[in-house]
Amino acid sequence: NLRIPGPTPCPPEVLDQVGEPMINHRGPEFKVLINSVTAKLKRVFQTREDLFILTSSGTGAMEASIVNTLSPGDPVLCVSVGAFGDRYRAIAEAYGLNVTRMDVEWGKIADPNEIRKALKANPAIKAVIITHNETSTGVTNDLAAISKVVKGEFNKLLLVDAISSMGCLPLPTDEWRIDVVGTSSQKGFMVPPGLAFISFGQQAWQAYASAKLPRNYFDLKAAKHYLEDLGQTPWTPAVSIFYGLDISLDMMLAEGLESVFARHHRLAEYTRQNVKAMGLSLYADESCAADTVTAVTIPEGVDGNRLVGLMREEHNVVLAGGQGKLVGKIFRIGHLGHCSEEDLRAVFVALEAVLPKVGFKPKARAR
Ligand SMILES: *Cc1c(COP(=O)(O)O)cnc(C)c1O
Repeated sequence: NLRIPGPTPCPPEVLDQVGEPMINHRGPEFKVLINSVTAKLKRVFQTREDLFILTSSGTGAMEASIVNTLSPGDPVLCVSVGAFGDRYRAIAEAYGLNVTRMDVEWGKIADPNEIRKALKANPAIKAVIITHNETSTGVTNDLAAISKVVKGEFNKLLLVDAISSMGCLPLPTDEWRIDVVGTSSQKGFMVPPGLAFISFGQQAWQAYASAKLPRNYFDLKAAKHYLEDLGQTPWTPAVSIFYGLDISLDMMLAEGLESVFARHHRLAEYTRQNVKAMGLSLYADESCAADTVTAVTIPEGVDGNRLVGLMREEHNVVLAGGQGKLVGKIFRIGHLGHCSEEDLRAVFVALEAVLPKVGFKPKARAR
């Protein structure tokens, strides 16, 4: 029972496909496949703009969003609410952007008013770089409200890491006017790691025209040319993951996006209710708690490593520990992608047995 926030479990239908024989990635079958998968991904992203499939982990899409829109020294606002926000900022810094930091206390979300103030104070800022769903702390930024400020009031570029939210939480790319959204295969999409997806709107293309950062592997003009003129990718793609993705996208679209979002919300509520009923506390404010991953504070006196270890060894439940400064302070339960209430109930049944062994007496039984 793999309950980490990615890689997530894959449905058997997907795993069957991933083992199929190779095809020519410059041949007619691949052209049909990439066109089919791209069209379906656009439905999940709710976009009519360009969308490209990169062979990389999600971080590749984050890097691509930056190198295709910006130039060395460009002023940008990096809003971080956790470890992945810090990663996005580190990429911006690595490429020599002039970064204004907005670091929000972990466990909380970004305040659109603060973003407004920062943009007012520094009118030269070209782009706002932000995480939609912060996997390290289990919170979801209010991207609709943030976009109203960034796009509606200031019309800056808005680059978004949606790696643990796309396909799980509502994120209508075009309606919210997000210029670039990046995500990857191994979280909400229920396929193995290996592919990243990136939407790229018209304003992003305008920025591309003058963007001077070095780029090669992730040059989206090359991706656009290969996709539109040839039905290919510039470099050899992770063909097997395309096979699996074709099936998983069919499953998501057959369930219906609204139902997929509602299921994630229901499972998250179930998880939060159980955590609280047992007498444990949620790390994040419940008002902004993520519907894809729940962070639980490790009670005083409990050895978090031992807790996670016993869950794995004795109950075959694999939980995630904390990242960065949250190592030993929280554990996380992933409930995104291919996940059911039974999967989560098994987590709580196991916790009921393990918690007393690490010195914590649960207040209630697993529901
Ligand atoms: C998982 C994750 C990433 C990193 O993705 P990789 O595929 O490991 O490169 C980045 N941001 C968020 C919010 C994530 O959840």
